[in-house]
Amino acid sequence: MELHPDISHLILSEDEVQSRVRELGAQISADYGDDPVLLVGVLRGAAIFVADLARAISSPVELDFMAVSSYGSSTKSSGVVRILKDLDETIEGRNVLVCEDILDTGLTLKYLLKNLASRKPRSLEVVALLSKEGKQRVPIRCRYVGFDVPDEFVVGYGLDYAERYRNLPYVGVLKPEIYADQTAPF
Ligand code: IMP
Repeated sequence: MELHPDISHLILSEDEVQSRVRELGAQISADYGDDPVLLVGVLRGAAIFVADLARAISSPVELDFMAVSSYGSSTKSSGVVRILKDLDETIEGRNVLVCEDILDTGLTLKYLLKNLASRKPRSLEVVALLSKEGKQRVPIRCRYVGFDVPDEFVVGYGLDYAERYRNLPYVGVLKPEIYADQTAPF
């Protein structure tokens, strides 16, 4: 498949992403067995990942979504998180698996996990498709990680720059001129 003209290079091909998502699904299915698991997708970046992951899990799956935004600059995580959309249902006594697109500083997830833990789920785990090497500022217990990626701003497979590129089926890095008249997103 041809790369989008705004992409300078590929980090993960569509095939690599799809086969790793299937592996994660198999691992999650083995761990939860016949126990129901509630996948909590963190909007909007994880939407595409959750959709594929859910179909790769054979345990009984339920879905819910949260939307969060960091206060302060839109491109740098401040650690102060606002819930824009909360879960529709209670999670007390349920197995919750938070699905994130990318673990960067970890500040967003730290807030989210603290918030969700206070609702007394039976279990609370995290699956992140991507994790940026060496970037975590707070330790996050992430049970499943798809790939470690270099510390570059990546787009595709749900990840955006200014709301674009989420629909690319692969993960890649944008050409520098795409942010030329904007603040670089890192
Ligand atoms: P954290 O709080 O620094 O871990 O930020 C996590 C969130 O920042 C992710 O869920 C993404 O929405 C966003 N983010 C971090 N790095 C990237 C990237 O390389 N591309 C697109 N979004 C990113």
